[in-house]
Amino acid sequence: MEQENGMALQRSLTILGATGSVGKSTLDLVREQPSRFSIKGLTAHTNYKELARLAHEFKPDTVVIADDGYYQPLKESLLGMDIAIHAGTAALSALAAEPVDCVIGAIVGIAGLTPVYSAVQAGQKIALANKETLVVAGHLIMPMLAKTGASILPLDSEHNAIFQCLKGEEDAVIKNIILTASGGPFRQMTREQMRSATRHQALQHPNWSMGPKVTIDSATLMNKGLELIEAKWLFGLPAEKINAVIHPQSVIHGLVNFTDGSCIAHMGSADMRIPISYALAYSKRMSWKAETLDLVQLSRLDFEEIDLCRFPCFKLAKDTLDAAPEQAVILNAANEIAVAAFLQEILAFSEIAEVVDRALNRFTIAAGTTSLDDVVSLDRDVRAYLSDL
Ligand code: NAD
Ligand code: MG
Repeated sequence: MEQENGMALQRSLTILGATGSVGKSTLDLVREQPSRFSIKGLTAHTNYKELARLAHEFKPDTVVIADDGYYQPLKESLLGMDIAIHAGTAALSALAAEPVDCVIGAIVGIAGLTPVYSAVQAGQKIALANKETLVVAGHLIMPMLAKTGASILPLDSEHNAIFQCLKGEEDAVIKNIILTASGGPFRQMTREQMRSATRHQALQHPNWSMGPKVTIDSATLMNKGLELIEAKWLFGLPAEKINAVIHPQSVIHGLVNFTDGSCIAHMGSADMRIPISYALAYSKRMSWKAETLDLVQLSRLDFEEIDLCRFPCFKLAKDTLDAAPEQAVILNAANEIAVAAFLQEILAFSEIAEVVDRALNRFTIAAGTTSLDDVVSLDRDVRAYLSDL
C-alpha cells in the first residue's frame, strides 16, 4: 500500500500485460525510480521467457501466464525464487483483484476485458491502456466505478492529454474535445494504393513504437475510431462533442475547446512514458528523464481532416458512437479477427474494413448486453460468425 518512504510515496503496482509495449514502458519508469514502486504482479500471455526475465529483475510477489501451456517452463525458470506462479485466465482476474495502489491494464484486445472488469469490481485504481475494454463494455464499467470505488486513469496518450486539459474544469463549459491522429503510414496514399499495402508497410508507424495490433489499427485509423468510443465512456460526452483530426507530427495529443473560446492543448514527445508517468504519480507529477520539446526545431504543426472515404474503418467506428453499445462489441470483435488475419497475410489491407462492415451489417443482436457474460458471449458469436476467414 501507499506509504511514506523518505520524501516519496512508494506505490505498489500490478501490470497486466507486462511483456508488451505499454508494459515495458511502465517497467522502464520503475527501473528508473525503483524506490518509488514495488511490483505486486506481472502477467503475460505466452512469452514465459520474457516474463521470467522481468520477474528476476523486478521480484514481484506473483506472476501469471495466461496460457496455461507455459506454466511448467515458467515454473522451472523461476525455481528457488519466492514468487507465486499461476496460470490461466481465472488467475489473471484473481491477480487483478488483489489490492494494489495501481493496476496497469496493458493487455491488448478483448483478452483484457475480464481482468480489468475484475479490478473494477474490486475497487482498484486502474491506469488503462487497453481501450478495447471500454469500447466493448464502457456501458457496464463506467456506472460500476462509483459503486465499487474504482477509478480509471487513461493511459492512451490522447485521452491522457484530454484528462490533463480537463483538470479542474466543469462539464458544462466543455464545448468539445479533439483527439489527434498521426494518420499512420498510409496518410497520403490513395484508396487504390492502400488496397495492396503489405503487412510490412502497415507495421511501419511513422511516430510511435507499439504492439502489432494497435499499429495496424493506426494504419487503418480504426485506432482513432476506437478512441472516439473510448472517449465517449471516459469523459461522458455525446458523439457531437468528440472529434478527431490528423496531426502528422504527433506533438499535440489532445485538445479541449471551452465555451469561453479558450482551447487547451496537451503537447509532448511521442513517448508513452509521458502519459504512463502521469498516471503512476497521479495526482502529483513524476520527474524523470523525459525529453523536453524543442519548439524551434519542430518549427511547424500541421492539421488535416480525416478522409472518411480513404479510411472506412474510422467511419465505421465513428458511426457506432450513437448506436447501441452492442454495435461496438461487433465492430471490435470483427476488427480483432480481421487484423489478426491481415497479420497472418490471409486478408488484404482493404479487406479489414470490408470484414468489419459485413459483420456490422449482417450480424443480428438477439438482446442487449447487460452483464460481462453477455458481452463475452456476443464477442464469441461474432467471432464464430466470421470463422470462415
Ligand atoms: P502488445 O501486443 O505489445 O502487448 C500486449 C500484452 O498483452 C503482452 O504482454 C501480451 O502478453 C498480453 N496479451 C496478449 N494477448 C493476451 C491474452 N489473450 N491473454 C492475456 N494476455 C495477453 O500491445 P501494446 O501495444 O502494449 O498495447 C496494449 C494495449 O494498450 C492495447 O489495447 C493498445 O491499444 C493500447 N495502447 C497501446 C499503446 C502503445 O504505445 N503500445 C498506446 C496507446 C494504447
Ligand atoms: Mg492513442
